Amino acid sequence: MNNNDIKDRVFKGVGVSPGIVIGEIFTIDRFRINIPKRKIKQEDIPFEKERFIHAVEKAKEQLIAIKNNIINKKEQKHSFIIDVHIMILDDSAFFNGILDMITRERINAEWALDIVTKKIVADFDNIEDPYLRERKSDIKYISNRVLRNLIGKKDSPLSKTNGKVVIVAHDLSPADTIQLNLNNVAGFVTDIGGKTSHTSILARSLGIPAVVGLGKISRMVEDGEQIIIDGNRGVVILNPSQQLYNRYLSLQQHFYYLEKRILKLSHLPAETLDGHRFLIEANIEFVDEVPSILDHGAEGVGLFRTEYIYIAKDHLPTEEEHFQIYKNLVEQVYPKRATIRTLDIGGDKLIFNNEASNEKNPALGLRAIRLCLKEKEIFKTQLRAIYRASAYGNLRIMIPMISGLEEILEIKAIMQEIRDELTDKKIPFKDNLPVGIMIEVPSASIIADILAKHVDFFSIGTNDLIQYTLAIDRINELVSYLYDPLHPSVLRLIKNIVNAAHSRNIEVGLCGEMASEPIYTLVLLGLGIDSLSMNPIAIPKIKRIIRRSTFREAKRLLDIVFKCNNAKEAEEIIRKEMIKRFPDII
Ligand code: PEP
Ligand code: MG
Repeated sequence: MNNNDIKDRVFKGVGVSPGIVIGEIFTIDRFRINIPKRKIKQEDIPFEKERFIHAVEKAKEQLIAIKNNIINKKEQKHSFIIDVHIMILDDSAFFNGILDMITRERINAEWALDIVTKKIVADFDNIEDPYLRERKSDIKYISNRVLRNLIGKKDSPLSKTNGKVVIVAHDLSPADTIQLNLNNVAGFVTDIGGKTSHTSILARSLGIPAVVGLGKISRMVEDGEQIIIDGNRGVVILNPSQQLYNRYLSLQQHFYYLEKRILKLSHLPAETLDGHRFLIEANIEFVDEVPSILDHGAEGVGLFRTEYIYIAKDHLPTEEEHFQIYKNLVEQVYPKRATIRTLDIGGDKLIFNNEASNEKNPALGLRAIRLCLKEKEIFKTQLRAIYRASAYGNLRIMIPMISGLEEILEIKAIMQEIRDELTDKKIPFKDNLPVGIMIEVPSASIIADILAKHVDFFSIGTNDLIQYTLAIDRINELVSYLYDPLHPSVLRLIKNIVNAAHSRNIEVGLCGEMASEPIYTLVLLGLGIDSLSMNPIAIPKIKRIIRRSTFREAKRLLDIVFKCNNAKEAEEIIRKEMIKRFPDII
């Protein structure tokens, strides 16, 4: 029986970029290569090392050729990913690690490559931040390219596709993605990957619907078969029947009609019907995202995560490198404001070629500001660059993981030192640069009234606040069912933070994932949050909810929620209410 005879095979994965696509399949790089493993003689070691070095050189040439071949402007801005890949090839943990392994274990290059790659990838698994953790896919990609060169396997023929196709792959690397003619790509489907893998980020920023994490789908399909991707729900349908085809065609038309309408209204202010104005901003990782967030109606950058600046290099970023990035950011966002968060990374997993941290509990360890106050030179380099960039736009500094007042006082002393230094050198900066803190540790939430006296704003990081309050590791799927933004303890903490901020007349924002979920919008308004910073895709929807609500009803809903004894009860009430009020959005 031909695959085409089986209709409506439905698969459920993770929708990472919204939209509905009906198209033809084009598969790439579906099958894994078997790794040859053999012991070698002492006298063959130089030859084996030479083979490896040659394979690495060839990989570099291939990557440079891919980069030079990118003609499309939209894709060019992502070509930095290829630079990251070239850096990985040069990294000593990778390059020397493999050469040492060949010599020490007397094994062939392919085997040594496999062992070292697995070790580096395992080190990455311990990284707290989901975005950085996903960077292991870059290492796997590079390793696979070197492996192909070692065993003489050609690249998949992916540069030429005819007409619009849906790309189906085991794992689509960023380099694969940008060498495709993206004008011909209608959607992406992959076996593995998550919301924060590079390809997902790229798909979102290019507006191409994508579903990932579909198990073994790449082995079950043939080129030319028909496929439907529903990036909103994470659903993929192979060989749809006429009935499903028609249904998705009308869903697709409806989706794009709504998108257009929502986007058209996304530039209107987030003001309730009874005149309460909220600020809606975007969370970003790359300056490249700025044009897209502005298109989606962002009124600024509420969280610029700077971790990627560190991970994308094989050395610690210099002050000048930081400065150019921040200057570019504030200039592009101006006159709107950009909030730059200082480094939030844990342990000594700071740069790629360091040994992994030995900390048993990295989330409770030397993370974020704790690390910065220990490694002061790293912190000062970043701060100096931020202060220098402040002369070029509307910038705020935000410090993550504050747990008590001492940290703030120490940071302020360092900032004073930096300001004095810049003044001495006659380097311009904004003197009254707002300095705020993330409130994401329960201790900080409880003493928010004390902290509010010393900073210019708060931003609530619910991703961490929930993790620490409910004692659930945010990266452990075994306890993810306990992750409840509506847990009474979390709501009480948020309320306490808002009261503390408002009694000192400082702004309180919220930049955790909770801000992007339409279901929580009224609750957050009712709590009195002044600004929400979120995934840019969510902005039009959230603004739309706010513009169709009153502050009064948000407060009423919150009163009911506060009477609930647990998150489940609260969730049921809110879901029911929000679906009734916004059936077209929720
Ligand atoms: C948070 O903790 O809610 C937050 C926004 O920061 P991150 O997810 O980067 O820890
Ligand atoms: Mg956080």
